[in-house]
Parts: sequence; C-alpha cells; structure tokens
Amino acid sequence: MNVYETVAAAIGNTALVRLNAVTEGIEAAVYAKLEFLNPGGSVKDRAARSMIEAAESSGELAPGGTVVEGTSGNTGIGLAMVAASRGYRTIVVVPDKTSAEKVAFLRAHGAEVRVTEGARPTDHPDHVRNIARRIADETPGGWLAGQYDNPANIGAHYASTGPELWQQTGGRITHFVAGIGTGGTISGTGRYLKEVSDGFVTVVGADPLNSTYNGGDGRAYYIESIGHFLHPDSPEDIWPECYDRSVVDSILTVTDREAITTVRALARREGLLVGGSGGAAVAAALRLARTLPADATVVVLIPDSGRAYLSKYFDDDWVARLGFDDRTGDVAVTDLLGDTLDPLTVPSDATVAEALEVLGDRPELPVVLRRTPSSLVVAEIVGSVTRNDLIAANPTSVVTEHLSVPLSVVGAFESLGAAVKRIGADTRTVVVAESGIVSGLLSAGQLTDRSSGERSGR
Ligand code: PMP
Repeated sequence: MNVYETVAAAIGNTALVRLNAVTEGIEAAVYAKLEFLNPGGSVKDRAARSMIEAAESSGELAPGGTVVEGTSGNTGIGLAMVAASRGYRTIVVVPDKTSAEKVAFLRAHGAEVRVTEGARPTDHPDHVRNIARRIADETPGGWLAGQYDNPANIGAHYASTGPELWQQTGGRITHFVAGIGTGGTISGTGRYLKEVSDGFVTVVGADPLNSTYNGGDGRAYYIESIGHFLHPDSPEDIWPECYDRSVVDSILTVTDREAITTVRALARREGLLVGGSGGAAVAAALRLARTLPADATVVVLIPDSGRAYLSKYFDDDWVARLGFDDRTGDVAVTDLLGDTLDPLTVPSDATVAEALEVLGDRPELPVVLRRTPSSLVVAEIVGSVTRNDLIAANPTSVVTEHLSVPLSVVGAFESLGAAVKRIGADTRTVVVAESGIVSGLLSAGQLTDRSSGERSGR
C-alpha cells in the first residue's frame, strides 16, 4: 500500500479529517480534505499532473520539451515537480510580489523563474500570462499549461478529487465547499459529486470580499489564490473557462478578517496548519454547517498548508500592522482618528495638477490604484507623493512618474507605543489600517505626542 513508482503517481488519495473544535454548536459533521498532503504540497499537483499527461497524449508536449506557465504559486510548483520527474525543462513567470520562498521552491526543482511586475491590466503585453504565452510560442518544444482555461485542470478533479470524496464518505457527503481560483477544483469535484449523487450534493463556493465572482468590484484582498481580482484598467473582466458556474449552487463571501481568524483557530484548536484559501473555505463551511441538521455531511477542501504563510496570517506583527487583530484595551491608534486628516488618497492615474488639488497644504498623501475613495485596500497603495516634489513637476504629467516610497502603515488596534515603534524615525504622514483597509491618516507628530502623553500620564 502507498508504494508508487513515480512521484506523480503519489499525487491524490489525501486524508479526510473531521473538524472537532471549531465546530462547537454545529450538529452536522464537517470534514476537511487535506490537499497539502500531496507531494508538491497543494491541490494543484492534481491539475499539474493531469495537464502534463493530457499534453503528452495530444503530442503538444514531447520529450525534450519545455513546460511554461504564468503563476505565482502552487501550480508552478506542481508543474515543476512533475516536469522534473519526467525530464522536461520548466519556465515559470511570476509576479514580483511572489514570496522568496515560492521562487526558491521553483528553483529547487530546476525551474527557470522570470519575475515581472504583478499589478497590470490583463491586456498589457507584460501581464504575467501574456509573457508566459510569448515564451511558450518562442521556445522550441514549448508548451503553455494555461491552467485557467485548460480542461485537464477540471478533468483532474472530476477523475480524482470527486471520486475520492464519494468513497471516503461512503456516499454520505451532502455539501461540498471550496474556494474558486481557476475554478478547476470546484467545477471538476462538484460536477462529479452531482452526477454520482443524482444532484443530491450541494456545491458551495467560498469567495473573498471584493472578488468579482460574487459581485465584488475587483479590489484587492489579502487571501491569496482564490477569488477574482480586477485591475481598474483591464478592458473586461474575463473569467477562467475552468470555472463552470452551473455546478455551483451558491457562493458565500468571506472577509479577509474572517479567513485570517479561521486559519489561526484551525492551527491552535484543530492542529491543522492551513493556508488562507483553506481558512476562507472553512469559514464558509462553518457558516453553512450552522444551518444544517445532524445528518448532513459537509466536506471542505483545504488547498495548501499554512507553511507558505507563516510570515503573514500567522505572524502577530503582520496581523497587527494591518489591523486584523482585536483591540486589547488601552488607548489604540484608532482612538486618535476622530480629530485627524481625512483618509484622502491620490488615484494612480491622476495628473500632478489634480494631485496638488487633493493635497491642498498637506505635505504628502498615499497613491492608490482606484479612484473610488471608499474601502481603500492597503494592498492597493502603490506609493506616495509629496507636495514639494509635485510643485516642481510638470502639472500635466502623471503622479506615478513622481512616486516616493509608500507611507508607514500602522494597525488601528495597536497601542500608541507599538505604533510609534513601528514608524521609527519616519516623520511623514502615517496610514492607519483596520482589517486591511485604510481607515484614516495621522501625522507622525500626532502619534508621537499622544504616545509620550500616555507615558507621562497626561
Ligand atoms: N487555494 C490555493 C492555495 C491555490 O493555490 C489554488 C489554485 N490557484 C486555489 C485555492 C484555487 O483552486 P482552483 O484553481 O482549482 O480553483
């Protein structure tokens, strides 16, 4: 048992584990499908193997060939792993925000990694996927995996994930919950489960707040690898062909805060270290399960492990800086916001003249990706502009030509002392973040004055 001739054959047949602590007060059974147990560490091993095997069968990928993909994450690792075991060369194009660990994973398997700027509209020639397509076209023997539109991605889940769940639950599964990235997992698994159960299994998507899959406007969010981001300059919102909406009965929207709280609870209370997309899926599954009777069996898919996110969701400092923590008493940064500057920001496509108007006599402001001023996500801050720089600049030029480094960010619920320590010697305007969203601006002076006032008992 469990002895395989190749690493690719060891993909799949992952464990299903019941959730016992975070399900307090829930009558239905909730089981987690632990996809981080795959050899490459994620659910994407299944799609990677399936896409490579389909390309081998069709002749698109032949011995000596090169596997190419544009991806920031797990698909690249799965492809590089399977390609390494079969002697193919791999080239992966990744956005510049990709963590150093993920790039190191790819290089460890011998993949060549090309880094490009991430936040680009889809029709930009240097958008990650467009570069990947070009490389595949120009490389002799090159084959683009194209996970978003490749039917072998859905096929992997129809042929393996779905049947495994049906078998593991002895046909008792009533609800399947998963995040939607390319849509391969939910569409393939969901389609199989619906067919085998005569439509009895309900399929529920978990979607980050802001994602356009469930009606958001496409702003950024902090949970990686699921949902659909829309750059304001993208000409249209094109969804992956692997996302088959007809399979999904309903979608639950999960906030970053809910997903982050859930991953932390799973690690501490269930002993399960899962990534952010798994946290979002579990948050949705628990919300759903609360409404279900005792004879319901909910299965939630956990795409990857929390190991790749130790410096984010599991790092107390990261969590506090973005305002994802809870208030612990004392005076917090957010208490200073009443009498401060508005959370004014400059859109990245503004001209210098427009920006100067917004600035008024403020010394500097953050520059953000969007024009709509509400719910500005900290991740969409692209830099800052200072009044002094802009006064000297050509008024019709665009502000992004005059960017300074982003302003310091402090969390809304941090103590004043912690926030002052965080900004260090920075004397510029400070951005305050609550649950990852800009909730206000403070001058560094307001923060340091009040902090020393607190200390001297004033
Ligand atoms: N979570 C993680 C961590 C992933 O890497 C992916 C794949 N992009 C997903 C969720 C979504 O899976 P799918 O692409 O099959 O929808």
